[in-house]
Amino acid sequence: MPGTTLEDLVLLFEQVDGAVALTGAGISTESGIPDFRSPGGLYSHIDPMEYLSVTAMYDHPERFWRFFIDVFSPIVDFEPNAGHRALARLEQAGRLVGVITQNIDGLHTKAGSETVIEVHGHLRTVHCTSCEAVAPLTEAAQQVNAGGLPTCPECGGALRPDVVLFGDQLPEIDRALELAQSVELVLVVGSSLSVTPASYLALQSGRRAIINREPTLLDSVSDVVINAPAGETLTALVEALVG
Ligand code: NAD
Repeated sequence: MPGTTLEDLVLLFEQVDGAVALTGAGISTESGIPDFRSPGGLYSHIDPMEYLSVTAMYDHPERFWRFFIDVFSPIVDFEPNAGHRALARLEQAGRLVGVITQNIDGLHTKAGSETVIEVHGHLRTVHCTSCEAVAPLTEAAQQVNAGGLPTCPECGGALRPDVVLFGDQLPEIDRALELAQSVELVLVVGSSLSVTPASYLALQSGRRAIINREPTLLDSVSDVVINAPAGETLTALVEALVG
């Protein structure tokens, strides 16, 4: 049976040589950004393959971009919460080698984490599918809001988001695997672990701890499982480990 208390988690940190955090949408809900798989979340009323896949982007570009900008562009205005800040402090104190995140919100970097691997991409930029030129997402949003499709300022080619879509390769997966394999502990925060690469990344180290509001698929193969909000649990962890 996994341990379930903060003391169990602190003890685990004391036993291991190096740890990395693996975060999902759940770490950012306390910043006001909803996750997608909880009841009432986005995935309970849309089929993500229909709106957020490479096929959707090429076959129905107007619908794809309207949806993308409406759902994702407001996310860039949110601020980090206590959970993001606690992970940044753990890294600064040498207790974490960094954060691997499924999130696209950029909040770990905003909170001060330095090594951040964004396996699902980010919302800072878009790039041209013809010449690879990079432009800010805000530029694409302006074009969509003016009723057009986002086109490259350099060559006029079609732009695409720097978010990983269903059907895309994962450009950062090798770096993420390397980082997860370099430590003894993966600390999962706010992820249902119901899809790869999250579940796969979580299995790369010998020891695992999970902080999530509800049970996950890897609870039975973890050393510690704490079913509680991420912000307060990580704040208590950083106080116990760093002071
Ligand atoms: P997910 O499957 O990893 O689910 C999130 C998990 O977090 C759930 O199990 C939920 O119980 C838990 N959770 C929610 N709030 C929590 C809290 N305060 N403390 C602890 N646990 C909490 O993620 P998803 O919602 O299915 O998202 C799918 C993908 O969509 C993500 O991998 C990501 O790429 C993208 N997404 C990103 C953001 C973001 O960038 N903030 C938000 C939503 C979705």
